[in-house]
Amino acid sequence: MTTIEATATETRSELPTDVAGWLELDRQYRIPGRYAISQVLHRGSGVRVWDVDGKEYLDFESGQVCTSTGHCHPAYTQAIIDQARTLVQTGSGYTSPARVLLAKKLAEIMPGNLTRSYFACTGSEASEVALRLAKLYTGRSEIVSLVRGYHGMTHASLSATGLGGKFKAIPGTGLPGNIFIPAPYAYRSPSGDDLDLFRQGLEIINWTSTGAPAAIILEVVMSVGGMIVPSKAYVQAVRKWCDETGALMIIDEAQTGVGRTGKWFAIEHFDVVPDIITTSKSLGGGIPLSGVTTTPEIAERVAHLGFHQSSSHTDDPFLAAVGLAHIEIIEGDGLVQNAAEEGAYLMRRLKQFNDRYEIVGDVRGIGMMLGVEIVTDKASKTPSALHATAVSQYCRDHGMLLGHRPTGAVSGNVLRILPPLTLQRAESDEALAILEAAIVHAQDSVIHAQAHGTGWMK
Ligand code: PMP
Repeated sequence: MTTIEATATETRSELPTDVAGWLELDRQYRIPGRYAISQVLHRGSGVRVWDVDGKEYLDFESGQVCTSTGHCHPAYTQAIIDQARTLVQTGSGYTSPARVLLAKKLAEIMPGNLTRSYFACTGSEASEVALRLAKLYTGRSEIVSLVRGYHGMTHASLSATGLGGKFKAIPGTGLPGNIFIPAPYAYRSPSGDDLDLFRQGLEIINWTSTGAPAAIILEVVMSVGGMIVPSKAYVQAVRKWCDETGALMIIDEAQTGVGRTGKWFAIEHFDVVPDIITTSKSLGGGIPLSGVTTTPEIAERVAHLGFHQSSSHTDDPFLAAVGLAHIEIIEGDGLVQNAAEEGAYLMRRLKQFNDRYEIVGDVRGIGMMLGVEIVTDKASKTPSALHATAVSQYCRDHGMLLGHRPTGAVSGNVLRILPPLTLQRAESDEALAILEAAIVHAQDSVIHAQAHGTGWMK
C-alpha cells in the first residue's frame, strides 16, 4: 500500500457514518448562508431518495425542481456516461454537434418562432442574458417584474426579483430602473380578479418610469412566490402591453419549462408567444444547464448591435448532450402527458383536502406544479407559516420531502408539490396519505396566535 492509499483509507475510516455526524462535519466546513437542512442524502432512484441512515423519502421537490425524469433514470445515467467518455469540454465558441442538436430540439418544441438559443449553467445566468438581450435590442434600460417573482441571485436577476427580507439583505442589491408591479394573486385580491392587479401595475409603470421599458420578466406559475397562477386574461394583457410599448416579453420557465405543467412550456396554456423564454433546472435534469431562446429577428438584430455573451461553459458538449438526452427521455416516456394526467389526479385529491380541512385555504397550479396555501382558517385567510411548517416537518419525518420549508418566500405558508414527472398512481396515493395525515396533525396540534395586519410577514 502506498502512503497516499494508506492515508486515504485512514481518512475514510474517520468519516461520519450517520446523519448527525455528517451534519457536524458540514458545520466545520461550510459558509452558512442557506438553510438548516436536517437530511443528508446520498442515493436516489425514481421518485425516491435515501439518507445516510438508510431512511427513505418520496422526493416531492424533484431535487431542486430539476430531476423531472426521476433520480438516476437509467437512460439519463447512460447519457452522462457516454458523453463523459466522448468529450466533456471545449473552449467556448467552438461548435459541437451536441449543442447544435439541443438548440434544434428546443426550436422544435418551443412555441412560435422561438428558434435561436444560447446556453449557460444556471437559471440566474439565463435571466441575466435575457435581460441583457432585451436592453441591447430595445436600447432601453428599465425592467418590469412582479412582486413575489423569482429570477435568481446574480445582480440583475436578483434586482428583478420581487422578494425582500434576506433576499435583499446585501447592501447595494438592486439595479436602478427596476419597476415592480403586483403579482396576479387572485386569492388575495379584494376583487378576486387579477386583471385589476395588472391595471394597477400599468398605473405603477406609467407613473414611475418612462412608460416604455426594455422588458417585462415573469413566471407563469410563480413558484417561489407561492405557486401563484395568473389568468389567461392577465398574461394576454401583458402581451398586448408589450406589443403597444415595444417592451420584450420574457417568460422565465426555469421551473415550469420542459414538460412540468403538462405542455412543453407553461406559456402554451395562455395562447401567447413571448419574445424570449428562459429555461434551466429540468432542461438539464440535474446537471447545470440553462438556456435562453428567442426569435431569429431578435437574435440577428442583437448580433448586429454587438451582442457579446460568453462563459467558460457556454458551449459545453457534455451539458448539451445530457440536456438533449433528458428531453428525449421526457418525450420517449410520455412524461409531458403523464404530468398533465397525474397532475390532474393530484389536483383533484388536493381539492378534496381544500373542502375537508379548515387550514387548507387554497389549492392551485398546473400539471405537476401545485401549491397548497395554508391559513389559520378559511374565513380570515390569515397565512399560517406555523401550520405550514408543521405540515412539511411531519411529511419529512414520515418520509416525504416537500422542501426545507414551505414557500411563499416571505409568508412561508404555501406547500409546493413538485414531484418527478414519472410519478405513478401508487406513489401519488402514498404521498397524499402522508400529506393528509400531516394536515390533520397540524390542524389539531398547532396553537397559533392570531396575527394582525402584516405582522406575519417575517
Ligand atoms: N427563475 C426561477 C423561476 C427559479 O425558480 C429559479 C431558481 N429557483 C431561478 C430563476 C434561478 O435559477 P438558479 O438557482 O439555477 O440560478
